[in-house]
Amino acid sequence: MEKVFVKGVGIFPFTSFDQLSDYAIENPAIYTSVNAEIILNADDRMRKLINKNVGYCDGAGPLAALRSMGCEDAVKLAGCEFWLHLVKKFYRQKTFYLVGAKQEVIDNTITKLKREFKGIDIVGYRNGYILSPAEEQALLDDIEEKKPDFVFVAMGAPRQELLMEKIQKRHQCVSLGLGGSFDVYAGNVKRAPKWWINHNVEWLYRLLNDPQRISRQLVLLQFAWWILSGEFRQGTVTI
Ligand code: UDP
Repeated sequence: MEKVFVKGVGIFPFTSFDQLSDYAIENPAIYTSVNAEIILNADDRMRKLINKNVGYCDGAGPLAALRSMGCEDAVKLAGCEFWLHLVKKFYRQKTFYLVGAKQEVIDNTITKLKREFKGIDIVGYRNGYILSPAEEQALLDDIEEKKPDFVFVAMGAPRQELLMEKIQKRHQCVSLGLGGSFDVYAGNVKRAPKWWINHNVEWLYRLLNDPQRISRQLVLLQFAWWILSGEFRQGTVTI
């Protein structure tokens, strides 16, 4: 598959969750869901990290960019659905480790997973508030010892990606950065209704429901301008 670069950030134009999860199982690495915010905020370190690993399209902005570069079949694959797709597909054979969100949210996430996926093998988990280097070391030691097939990290970008980089150095696995996905799964945060998701305007729904996101979402205006002007091709390389 050809990787496409949007403003220097490499994105694989996957066409379905099945294709993405089959690819993941064959290619243990850090999987980053790429949206406009990630592309605009990425510094050199983040760009290198994504490009050395696997970025997939999780936003209306990058999707428009991919399509205009000839990847007509590319689709938006939301991180908050991707990890559940992996769980559904592999919970009978593989092991899982979860890190992220507040204590109550991760507790509820684990309880719900065990209820919905009977027999799922969760070899470890913890909240996402890692307060000291010693806590981080303890987490890395535990992951190295338990050797999970999948590590899901829901702490927001780029915090989660930087942690996953440390995890991969100790134990190679499929690791996903999932932002606020555990909050959605545990029922603390509602996703947009299907219509908004299917019409690629989930960002607008989130904005209307939480106007404080405006400062974060102003990046979308800049991204829209890049697409209209064709400027996003800057730093575009196809390999
Ligand atoms: N979070 C965390 N550790 C921190 C800061 C945040 O685990 O040190 C969690 C927070 O509880 C929430 C998620 O990270 O569950 C925030 O994700 P955000 O809304 O930034 O992600 P998005 O879905 O917008 O990418």
